Amino acid sequence: MATCASSPFDHAKADVILRSADGVEFRVFMLFLSLASPFFETLFGLPQAPDGAADQEMKDGLAVIAVSEDSKTLDSFLRFCYPSTLAEDPSLDNLTDVLSVLAVARKYSLDLIERKVCQALANPKVLGTEPFRCFAIARNARLKHETITAARQTLRQPLIPAWFVEIDLITASDLLALLTYHKNCGIAVQALMKDLKWITDHYGTQNSCNWLFGATYNRYGSRENCGCGLGTDTRFSLWSSAPVVWWAIYMQEVFELLVDQPSSDTVRTAADKTIENVRSRACATCSGQVKANMAEFSDLLGLKVEEAVAPVRALLYHGLILIILNRLS
Ligand SMILES: [Zn+2]
Repeated sequence: MATCASSPFDHAKADVILRSADGVEFRVFMLFLSLASPFFETLFGLPQAPDGAADQEMKDGLAVIAVSEDSKTLDSFLRFCYPSTLAEDPSLDNLTDVLSVLAVARKYSLDLIERKVCQALANPKVLGTEPFRCFAIARNARLKHETITAARQTLRQPLIPAWFVEIDLITASDLLALLTYHKNCGIAVQALMKDLKWITDHYGTQNSCNWLFGATYNRYGSRENCGCGLGTDTRFSLWSSAPVVWWAIYMQEVFELLVDQPSSDTVRTAADKTIENVRSRACATCSGQVKANMAEFSDLLGLKVEEAVAPVRALLYHGLILIILNRLS
């Protein structure tokens, strides 16, 4: 027994019925589908069998066309075909739906829908939380721009991802290209730690970033250091002076994390942790001003990280193009 689809695909004045693979009947208007897809325009333009003809299933006087898609995919797909005043575009928050709708869009030659599905794949919310899944889907669907955008987002996560269901959509070569890209970005970022000129250039003078040294001026006007203490790791010395210990620890930790997750996100998350720690120290010099100073500093470092990985993106682009070309030849 067939069930009827929900609104707006239950319209009494619809002129054709599409039946999904799982037996749900969608009452739709041929005009909307014909306008959206040349495939449907051709299909509906074919001479219809006369009513009651043996080879054309009819219901309530309407032709019933069986399609191979399931009702969930068909629902998403038809919502894209309908004018937005009658049906909102489906959310496609679920990435598995993205792939199935994309497959239908291609099958029925719906360029517009393909573009809309690509937009769903480029949704920052989805990309930010599920970049590996987005990468696999975009790569599988041969969406060049979306593949590269997703690859870029995987830098926010550890080099070796946890298993995800879409991993089988890509080849070992694709995964190798992605991991190589990720690793090269991690290496590119390390150059920032070897030369801290970007910090001294940004602040100009030691006096304009006293907070980095826990420096304060006592009531006699002479400069002294707070009780937090100074870092002993000379890699983080600035203007040949040792910085405050908690900042040196931040730098050491953030660069270790950046090897695995070379992204400005990593910088900001680690800065938030440091701000919390320093506030709990109740240092008269550092605790009150750490938030503003570390926010500025992590913006600076975040920007430098993005700049360091940007040229690597070009290599990935090139690498993937080569892979695509190899497949085509
Ligand atoms: Zn302090």
